[in-house]
Amino acid sequence: MAKVLVVEDEEALSHLLSYNLGKEGFEVATTFDGDEALIAVDEEKPDIILLDWMLPNVSGVEICRQLRARSQTRDLPVIMLTARGEEEDRIRGLELGADDYVTKPFSMTELVARMRAVLRRTRPTIAGDVATFADIILDRETCRVRRGERDIHLGPTEFRLLDVLMQRPGRVFSREQLLDRVWGTDVYVEIRTVDVHVGRLRKALNRRGDKDPIRTVRSSGYALDETYGH
Ligand code: CA
Repeated sequence: MAKVLVVEDEEALSHLLSYNLGKEGFEVATTFDGDEALIAVDEEKPDIILLDWMLPNVSGVEICRQLRARSQTRDLPVIMLTARGEEEDRIRGLELGADDYVTKPFSMTELVARMRAVLRRTRPTIAGDVATFADIILDRETCRVRRGERDIHLGPTEFRLLDVLMQRPGRVFSREQLLDRVWGTDVYVEIRTVDVHVGRLRKALNRRGDKDPIRTVRSSGYALDETYGH
């Protein structure tokens, strides 16, 4: 499931977006203020941002510029929400690296189509129901996992864990990040629990002699090994 951060100061529009994007299967976080946007990005770790152009305190242009200047957010997809007549902002936004824009008023259908198109381009593994990594296939619709010809049976936690790792092959996730993304931020789970479930996931995925697709990065966390399958 892709997480979207909505940066929009018009409350009615923000609520409408949250409601409809939630129905479309997105996990939604919102912020109303330009000042808060970068903090929200760090906290929520969205997969895509809907960024209103006219915001109090810091403009959408400035937020986009700052996102692109920081290595952690350089590739984060941004769709701008612009009002009619903000042609100049739109051009600047695209120059600054926004991925697309929609002009208000827009239809939800159009917005969602553009979001999916941007996600397909930038994060192919989370846009659809099926994620693949070398010979590993994870189907979110049927909750099935295969490695080559073999069906892999995973518990719900191991399934979500693998799903998170497969969304960004090669990226190192800290144990805290995995806790947030797999168990959610509202529950208290001991950090060691992550290791236990990674252990179970490995046991389910790997048979004797198989190459381990999961890399343990000392004192950092876990990642899918990009050399796997090569
Ligand atoms: Ca606005």
